[in-house]
Amino acid sequence: MATMVPGEFAYFEGKYIPSVDANISIMTHGFNYGTGLFEGIRGYYCPSENNILIFKLKEHIDRFVRNFNILCMEVPETAADIENICVEVTKRSGFREGVYIRPLCYKSELSLGPKLRGVESKFCCYVIKLGDYCDIESGLDVAVSSWRRIADNAIPTRAKSTGSYINSALAATEAKQAGFDEAVFLREDGTVAEGSAMNIFMLANGKLITPPPNSDILVGITRNTVIELVQAELGLEVVERPIARTELYICDELFFTGTGAQVAPVRSVDRRIIGSGKPGPVSKELQDLYFRVVQGKVEKYRKWCTPVY
Ligand code: PMP
Repeated sequence: MATMVPGEFAYFEGKYIPSVDANISIMTHGFNYGTGLFEGIRGYYCPSENNILIFKLKEHIDRFVRNFNILCMEVPETAADIENICVEVTKRSGFREGVYIRPLCYKSELSLGPKLRGVESKFCCYVIKLGDYCDIESGLDVAVSSWRRIADNAIPTRAKSTGSYINSALAATEAKQAGFDEAVFLREDGTVAEGSAMNIFMLANGKLITPPPNSDILVGITRNTVIELVQAELGLEVVERPIARTELYICDELFFTGTGAQVAPVRSVDRRIIGSGKPGPVSKELQDLYFRVVQGKVEKYRKWCTPVY
């Protein structure tokens, strides 16, 4: 991950204040128990418009506020307020390059005990500069993790909660220590879930296959975007079904999707070469289309782009 270069202002406790002053106490519930919920949203700099276009802002905020219910969170800011705050924080950064916007809701009370009801929550938001998160050109070498993906009924995977990222950190660290770029999580039943912070797609028998929303995954906004684009623009059938580990070894193409990862082709799994060992034609065509869409270059999908300035 790139070093964090924050925008000058963050939204904190109801106000826009200098990012360096947006700090919480060490006694904060969210810090002690991981009771936070967040989003990661990209803004793409579009040189021809000298503007930043935020990709699928509405969809991210919709997922965010719906998930408040899982963690019993209530804040005064509405979904519409939060959308405006994301735009405003980015605007106040003055950045004219790629950014990553991080709205966060956390249990803000200085209180003891891992409970969800009766603990006050607060909303905050910051923005940083962000380029590519992983190598999206040559393809990634990945390994199946010895860490299982947490089950949704242990720590809800469909909620992007701060505490759940211990699971991702363990898998990503193991993979990197062993010389791989990324991890693939299996579920307790041995089927494929996702990467450490990305969803997974496999091309097999001319169809694009991805694990279903009830398979201990974060139901990615990029995943939904790719499903729609592939069907509408590439004319491929998309199937949501469980994937066995060994299917990954024999598929034609494999790629990850995510706000950070974007569309990231995989060239090997557990040292087995996938396809030709280079990003395949479907992955490349999709990646190209995805970048044109997020940069606001495809009129039909311009509705997914929110200009900042
Ligand atoms: N799974 C996990 C665990 C993630 O952290 C992410 C990144 N947010 C994704 C999938 C991809 O989700 P999205 O496309 O919404 O960024």
